[in-house]
Amino acid sequence: MAPPSHFYTNNGAPQNGAVLPAGAGNVPPQHSCLLDPNEFRRQGHQVIDFIADYYARMDDYPLPANAPSRPESDAFGTALRDVRDLILPGMTHWQSARHFAHFPASSSTVAALGEALTAGINIVPFTWAASPAATELEMVVVDWLGKALHLPESLMFCGGGGGTLLGTTCEAILCAIVAARDRKLADIGSGRIGDLVVYCSDQTHFAFRKAAHIAGIHRDNCREIATPPCKRMWTPGWSRSSCARRSEPLRPRPWTLSELCAVAATHGVWVHVDAAYAGSALVCPEFRHLIDGAEAVDSFSMNAHKWLLANNDCCVLWVKKPSLLIAALGTEQEYILKDAAAEGHDVVDYKDWSVTLTRRFRALKLWLVLRCYGVEGLRDHIRGHVDMAVSFEGMVKADPRFEVMATRQFALVCFRLRAPEELGGPKAANDLNRRLLEEVNATGSGPYMSSANVGGIYMLRCAIGSTLTEEQHVRAAWKVVQDRAASLLRKMESINAVA
Ligand SMILES: *Cc1c(COP(=O)(O)O)cnc(C)c1O
Repeated sequence: MAPPSHFYTNNGAPQNGAVLPAGAGNVPPQHSCLLDPNEFRRQGHQVIDFIADYYARMDDYPLPANAPSRPESDAFGTALRDVRDLILPGMTHWQSARHFAHFPASSSTVAALGEALTAGINIVPFTWAASPAATELEMVVVDWLGKALHLPESLMFCGGGGGTLLGTTCEAILCAIVAARDRKLADIGSGRIGDLVVYCSDQTHFAFRKAAHIAGIHRDNCREIATPPCKRMWTPGWSRSSCARRSEPLRPRPWTLSELCAVAATHGVWVHVDAAYAGSALVCPEFRHLIDGAEAVDSFSMNAHKWLLANNDCCVLWVKKPSLLIAALGTEQEYILKDAAAEGHDVVDYKDWSVTLTRRFRALKLWLVLRCYGVEGLRDHIRGHVDMAVSFEGMVKADPRFEVMATRQFALVCFRLRAPEELGGPKAANDLNRRLLEEVNATGSGPYMSSANVGGIYMLRCAIGSTLTEEQHVRAAWKVVQDRAASLLRKMESINAVA
């Protein structure tokens, strides 16, 4: 890869006429220089050029490669070159148009600059008084997003609820479980934590079990409810006196969110919706029916950093009753943090809404994304990816050697290669598909995909959601999968013939 023109030459001299500060590269910076405006402007331009080149040259980077080993030197320009030459080749390029693994981390230049602004301003908005505009912007932006996602008003400040911006869904679920736990314990007695039970579907992300464990829920009291292929919940046996104590055998019947909330309500059970990935799709009215009944949920979270162009990290948690969150997570020793300006006013102190005290000013980035792309722009972004997933799914279905493994709802397609009878039939399919994924991902210029194992069935996952992905990349990815599958089948058939 040839160095872009604005990078330094090998002897360290800048190529574009930029002037290096005296002694840069060999003298440690003086403290008075740590926030030097001119130096910041110069380095800032270098960083922006760097990121722009990264986007432009995405195709030059192998996926994935080895981790870097050389240490950084102390001068900024040299270090930046090391980022390009040593660190980037060792990364998995989540922004690549050919990244189809795990889940999307769709990013935008606006959010990247929002992150830079946040880092540059570097405030700590733990209370309203600690930075009033930051708290107020966060309150505005969570309502903006809630409305854009068609969430019920009961979860928004304008409807008596409210939201906050956290790092990740793991944190959001933990906060919700702790609030639910404390509400229940206030009812049944604080000594009975061992009796508390949490329910999830068998498709639920491990983040839920992890959060329940951290919150002190006994591992055996985390109950998974089996889901049928149509992916709606089977009825759990919640008809006993309290579902917080005992489960009953399952009665098979699919449930809607409203039905589930109705039963939960009769037992005083907190309902949380983890929409980490799919929540972004709710900007499109055509997906709103998927959360019919959400009026009754206690809390809802989604990752705007997954599929909504708000770069890492930006999880939004909304709750119907903020007082329950504050009761569980509020701090009592307030004398250091109380401020005369806030005294006697009903202000939001976000430190009481989550695990941390120090927190990032994430609202700025999300607000910029909503302002600069608009709700319609976000819809286009989501629909573009869904259309590409529809087309990928169509290509899989059109090839009889393959099968689609789950009903596609959004932009994730789960599929696998059928194992021919002479190669062992369905029993051999897991191994065959494991090898297929290895071969697909070993194709340097090809796509990067991941896998899932659901009920003992191994499958490939093609998660479309990179901002740079276009239809051509999806077609090319499918071609690589087909080619690798054909050569794998040929190879195995010839081994079979010899045996
Ligand atoms: C990605 C994902 C998570 C985990 O999100 P983090 O922000 O990494 O904690 C949890 N649940 C679902 C449904 C997800 O898609």
